[in-house]
Amino acid sequence: MEAAQQLLCTWQLQGKLPLREVYSIFHGPCPTLQWMKLLLDGVIVPWHAFISTLAAHQALPTVDNICSRGMPMVNRCVLCGSAMETHQHLFFSCPYSNKVMQGTLTWQGIIRRILNLKHKLNKLARYRCKTWRKKLSCCALAAGIYGLWHERNKRIFVGHCRSPDQLLRWIKYCVCLRMYAWQKGILNYDMLNVLIG
Ligand SMILES: [Zn+2]
Repeated sequence: MEAAQQLLCTWQLQGKLPLREVYSIFHGPCPTLQWMKLLLDGVIVPWHAFISTLAAHQALPTVDNICSRGMPMVNRCVLCGSAMETHQHLFFSCPYSNKVMQGTLTWQGIIRRILNLKHKLNKLARYRCKTWRKKLSCCALAAGIYGLWHERNKRIFVGHCRSPDQLLRWIKYCVCLRMYAWQKGILNYDMLNVLIG
């Protein structure tokens, strides 16, 4: 507790309390999450980044999360109606989500499957490729996560459903707009090929 006492002395002498240091004394140092930097990139729509961050921390109010806090609810995925709603199911294991997320990958010319959001974000953070390719992948991933969460909420609260193809079209539209704005309207041939492909 020596560090805490020092901090209290500084507070008394200077009248300032550095919150970052207080936090690290009581909770330990925070590891730097490389993938957070990806989501903070300006090319990603802020709402998409926010929902994706919560999804990566499994902190969205999915039915299993609500039930774990003692609120009894029927746990059934509204996208497929055949499994329990968890983060992993809602974004990756659900046949509906799988079709949407695989669609975003096929669009980019990627064959591999996404197994888990944190795993995918960590892989993207380490991935060495052209800047626009990385931005496109992050933008599409975040738009996909947001799109699925939005679709789930619309079905529950508004009763409105979209097919996986309709949602995929919306995701592509969002990504194209963001990439176009980021490049100030000047797209190279490779990028154009992916976006309109
Ligand atoms: Zn499902």
